[in-house]
Amino acid sequence: MTLMINSAFDGGNIDVRKAEEAGDIRLAIRKDNASDFYQWFYYRLTGAKGQNCRMVLENTKDSAFASGWEDYKACASYDRKNWFRVETTKYENDQLIIEHTPEQDSIYYAYFAPYSAERHHDRIAHYTGDHGVSMKVIGHSVEGQTLDCLEMGEGETTIWVIARQHPGETMAEWWMDGFISRLIEAKDEATKTLLKKAKLFIVPNMNPDGSTHGNLRTNAKGANLNREWGVATKESCPEVLATIAAMDKNPPRLCLDVHGDENLPYNFIAGAEGIPGYTDKQAKNLEDFLTAYKKASPDFQTEHGYPTSKPGEGNLTMCTNFTAHRYDCLSMTLEMPFKDNADRPDKAVGWSPERCAELGNAAVEAMAEMLDQL
Ligand SMILES: [Zn+2]
Repeated sequence: MTLMINSAFDGGNIDVRKAEEAGDIRLAIRKDNASDFYQWFYYRLTGAKGQNCRMVLENTKDSAFASGWEDYKACASYDRKNWFRVETTKYENDQLIIEHTPEQDSIYYAYFAPYSAERHHDRIAHYTGDHGVSMKVIGHSVEGQTLDCLEMGEGETTIWVIARQHPGETMAEWWMDGFISRLIEAKDEATKTLLKKAKLFIVPNMNPDGSTHGNLRTNAKGANLNREWGVATKESCPEVLATIAAMDKNPPRLCLDVHGDENLPYNFIAGAEGIPGYTDKQAKNLEDFLTAYKKASPDFQTEHGYPTSKPGEGNLTMCTNFTAHRYDCLSMTLEMPFKDNADRPDKAVGWSPERCAELGNAAVEAMAEMLDQL
């Protein structure tokens, strides 16, 4: 069987430069379809069973976050369900080198466990069908895909949770699986409290076009959604425009925007400290949420993270700053690693879909704990 590398499927991304011999496979990550960002890769290798493959991703030096490749291990899967890390991944001479001997005729490699469009639709159907969860389409992407927003809970306190503004950060939608599953299945006190006292609006995928295209950061028109809040137009970024319109009807008291970070091997939260008029109440709510999340999950920490913006210097085109400013609420960006949680490393899988889901699950407890003070 001839060696073959292909990425012509949902979320796929790779350019093949050379693939005649297993020991000398030369690849390049494609740019986002309408911008210069690139970092996400996802491809299938066939015909290499039992051969020592050396796959060099030649253009990693100029990728969006080149330092993200240090200490990074590629993800691989035979069945696209179980993803493991390729321990022999190296970053040498500014190139990512994946050395692996596949045990099967067909194997997939990716930057992180992919979250497919089909899975998104399966999950939405499961929540709305089997569990009777309310769902509204709050808008459409550039290419006409729906922006699905689940609505749960009977209370007064409005909570918005959104994920995957950056489509290559698939961990954000894996996090959503755990968060939503807890809300629909668990019968514990925290879940009951949250559903009784809060009304939740949940958008599991803000950027379905970018996800399908295998983009890292942008939508089909090249817009980076998390730099479009307050400046988005109907033509370039209908996804953010539609979400703000929906939020205006049900203004958040708490807004959580879920992401992944290429560099830092930790789970952490960035707040809205840099907005003009940041209040003591916002600061206190942030502090208490962080404390509650740490208590709820051993994978969450507050030691490592982004430097805090100086007062008045926050970028208001980012969701967290925009919503904190517009709605005077607690607003936060959650970041998860592409690599692993260095405090609790797992060599076999690194940071994984299952661990994302556990962290999402724990967020229910953190929200329930400080809900009354929002
Ligand atoms: Zn992001």
